[in-house]
Amino acid sequence: MPYVANTQRYANMEYRLCGRSGLRLPLISLGLWHNFGDNSRQDNCQAMLRHAFDHGITHFDLANNYGPPPGSAESQFGRILQQDFLPYRDEMIISTKAGFTMWDGPYGDWGSKKYLVASLNQSLKRLNLDYVDIFYHHRPDPNTPLEETMGALDLIVRQGKALYVGISNYPADLAKDAIDILKQLGTPCLIHQPRYSMLVRDPETELFDVLDDEGVGVIAYSPLAGGILTDRYLQGIPADSRAAGNPSLPPERLTSAVMAKVKKLNDLASSRGQKLSQMALSWLLRHDRVTSLLIGASRISQIDDALGIINNRHFSQAELKVIELILEG
Ligand code: NDP
Repeated sequence: MPYVANTQRYANMEYRLCGRSGLRLPLISLGLWHNFGDNSRQDNCQAMLRHAFDHGITHFDLANNYGPPPGSAESQFGRILQQDFLPYRDEMIISTKAGFTMWDGPYGDWGSKKYLVASLNQSLKRLNLDYVDIFYHHRPDPNTPLEETMGALDLIVRQGKALYVGISNYPADLAKDAIDILKQLGTPCLIHQPRYSMLVRDPETELFDVLDDEGVGVIAYSPLAGGILTDRYLQGIPADSRAAGNPSLPPERLTSAVMAKVKKLNDLASSRGQKLSQMALSWLLRHDRVTSLLIGASRISQIDDALGIINNRHFSQAELKVIELILEG
């Protein structure tokens, strides 16, 4: 049966303006880092993408190296896009990135113009698209002048291969420099993609202030700390979980100190009538500095859990205090 999108898809989702731009992003965006490579079942990938889009998730985040193997998440997404989403392309924000190791030799990594331009050309072929909506530099490169990397982003926009550009994993001072250069070039930086969750709060110290001042949006990646901030690991490590088999979440990260916090947070979430995953996501949206939360999912029910926060995001001052105490503890 050909896919027909849910006519009610915009009924519940909320959209926030991304910094001082005209682009609105959904509060929940879906990332394809895990669970969309060649090692994942295509029917599950397709079902998750349909379900997300059917519920107002318009933003899908990729990178050249997502898989495994690298490139396969883009190819998978490109195939499903052709099958299901071509009539809806203009309702979607599709992003990709380059900055980590992608191919052999000196031109397949980091931040040179050579790498970024070639990588996006490859991504567009895999995605079967003429342009992406957002193209990111994935991580800072200490050995390439920032002017060259930002110049490549500006060029890519002028070539019509991306509508907007962003940066990811840039610390506050470097982010400010990158934003300034892009401004001078006439291609404003739309968005920053930092890691941000209850367990990783670094952006709160400086980065958010820079982005606020500069009118740059924020999309928080790994908002559930890869699954730690859910009920997944409360009784041990399930065989089908990320910590059981994926090097990006080694089980050593589930220390007794971390799990003690998770258990306390889980109790608090229950008292609010929420799952822990939902409280962890809601809490990141407690101020409006965060434009969107970039979640990952291995199954539809996890997308539903995230969607469940849209109408249940209020925290009392007392709850906020308790959370601070738990996180500091
Ligand atoms: P999350 O922190 O949201 O972790 C997602 C994982 O948590 C899922 O795959 C699942 O793991 C588990 N999970 C999710 N919801 C639930 C739930 N309700 N109950 C129980 N377990 C749940 O994000 P990711 O680390 O996956 O990152 C999200 C996206 O961010 C990526 O896809 C990518 O687009 C982006 N990203 C960007 C980076 C960058 O450098 N710019 C780096 C990393 C990510 P399980 O498989 O165990 O079910």
